[in-house]
Amino acid sequence: MTSKRDYYEVLGVQKGASKDEIKNAYRKLALQYHPDRNKEPGAEEKFKEISEAYAVLYDDDKRAKYDKYGHVGGEEVFRGSEANFEEVFRDMGFGGFQSIFEQMFGGRGGFGGDFFGFGGRRRGSDIIYDADLTLQDVLHGKKEELELPKLDRCDKCNGTGAEPGTKSRKCTVCDGQGQTRRVYSQNRFSTFVTVEPCRTCQGKGQIIDRPCSNCRGSGRATRKKKIRIEIPAGVEDGMAMQLRGEGELSEHGIPGDLVVRIHVKKHPDFERLEDGHLLYNLDVKFTDLALGTELKIPTLDGSEKVKIHQGTSASGLLRLKGKGLPRYNSGGKGDIIVKLNVKVPTKLTDRQKSLLKELDRELDSN
Ligand SMILES: [Zn+2]
Ligand SMILES: [Zn+2]
Repeated sequence: MTSKRDYYEVLGVQKGASKDEIKNAYRKLALQYHPDRNKEPGAEEKFKEISEAYAVLYDDDKRAKYDKYGHVGGEEVFRGSEANFEEVFRDMGFGGFQSIFEQMFGGRGGFGGDFFGFGGRRRGSDIIYDADLTLQDVLHGKKEELELPKLDRCDKCNGTGAEPGTKSRKCTVCDGQGQTRRVYSQNRFSTFVTVEPCRTCQGKGQIIDRPCSNCRGSGRATRKKKIRIEIPAGVEDGMAMQLRGEGELSEHGIPGDLVVRIHVKKHPDFERLEDGHLLYNLDVKFTDLALGTELKIPTLDGSEKVKIHQGTSASGLLRLKGKGLPRYNSGGKGDIIVKLNVKVPTKLTDRQKSLLKELDRELDSN
């Protein structure tokens, strides 16, 4: 799975940073890493990373979700974000680049330039996988091997689209690049380039004379592919995990992502609270509290004995330290919080009644 850096760390701001601080931090970093200025290897990746962090942290809703659930992948990061990239870029003299980001994740082509290496070529579809987890899975994390049917490289022609034994020729219109580019406009600061898939070869860069009989020249075929996923411990219902490049292959050979959506089933005994804590309701007799005793309480992977001290209050809570769930963001584990539920007997035998009456008289006389 992809491991991403903390967004706050990426922008170098504090957890409680204001929107202005976040925008300023992004502005500074964008100036440093914008692909127009910085041609060093790794700058483009860095630019993507800071842009993603800005898109999430500048948007109240996305930021709240991130603080609660951590990273969510794909286009969702940018969709509807309050972050105003255009304004930031305009201030820096880079002009309107709204489609850089479509390019980055959606790849709709056209205006925007080849900053992200897709050259206006489309990315494949994402595959959504819904993972159902129990609280035990959340406790330990879960490894799964999925077998997903997806559009992938054709086995027979190895993705070339040409019948094995025959060869494709380089497209002369785009010189094998699969794309055509034109300089759109130029100013003091930057060059705008339109990049479009080559129409002659449909963006493939190759002309196929004898198409592969298995994929009819598309280079893609649906097949089942095994993917191992590892869901970390402590995840919460509603989170999503993104596995870059594990989605379907587009006609231009660019894969989408696999998005694993997390669903956590309700547990019959435990209610999940914040911070990894679990709530357990324990039925006790009032004599247990008055006299003290030891009772067995289930945990997610076994049971624990708890001591009820003599004279324990009926409104008290007991805690089993560290027996709850791992905390996804902050580390450590929560507790099992035991809520005492005092049972008052409704049916009494004559003997029980007389014993209780005797006890009652004793207590009154104290
Ligand atoms: Zn084929
Ligand atoms: Zn071409």
